[in-house]
Amino acid sequence: MVETIEGIVIKASDYQEKSKIIQVFTKEHGLIGIYLKGGNHYKSKTFALAQPISHAFFNILYTKGLSSCFVGEMIHSFRSLKIDFHKNIYIYHLFELIYKNIEQHQSIPYLYDLILNIMKEINDTDNTKKTKIMTLFFELKLLYFIGVAPILSHCVECGDQENIANFDISKGGFVCNQCIDDKSGHYSIESLKFLYQLFHQEFTSLQYEIDEKIITELRDLVTNYYAYHLNMKTNSSKYFDCS
Ligand SMILES: [Zn+2]
Repeated sequence: MVETIEGIVIKASDYQEKSKIIQVFTKEHGLIGIYLKGGNHYKSKTFALAQPISHAFFNILYTKGLSSCFVGEMIHSFRSLKIDFHKNIYIYHLFELIYKNIEQHQSIPYLYDLILNIMKEINDTDNTKKTKIMTLFFELKLLYFIGVAPILSHCVECGDQENIANFDISKGGFVCNQCIDDKSGHYSIESLKFLYQLFHQEFTSLQYEIDEKIITELRDLVTNYYAYHLNMKTNSSKYFDCS
């Protein structure tokens, strides 16, 4: 059945001479693969739609395998995200996390709306701090949706809610002053508080006037958490220090 879906292109690869296979994060069906006829030919109407970061409507023949598309309509090309190296480091980092961690055909409207809102914000801002915080926010929400969220309501070992002393990557959450050991992290109390806030906040109430040291500590924490629990580090993350 042919249907119109809304999606964000997160990955594209050449297919035959003039077409592309694109991975699209869609509102309706989650992450799906689409054969896009003409997507690799600059004179084709689908050429612009095939570019990663494009947000568009696609008329597709949906299947549980590879869907196919012959026509679509651009909603937002996100030009600034495509041409700005510092911006697309973060966007490609998030796209890679989506591609590698979300199962195909699993619709997650919350994450779809969130990535789209983040793309709009990063497209329109030059505030790097804001970009970094929104990226951390998405990463924490993604951990929640794939079922490996850190424990931030109590000590992971004993359940104590009062005497939180630090965060332990391998144990997967906060540890109290009785359970902390030499493998636990040495994050500042301000960073632990901000981590707790970020995890529980809504996107619209995010605060961006945060000390750079806190952002750096949380970047380290989240990167190590993904590496330890999901065995993953994105290709884009090696450029974080350049931004
Ligand atoms: Zn404890």
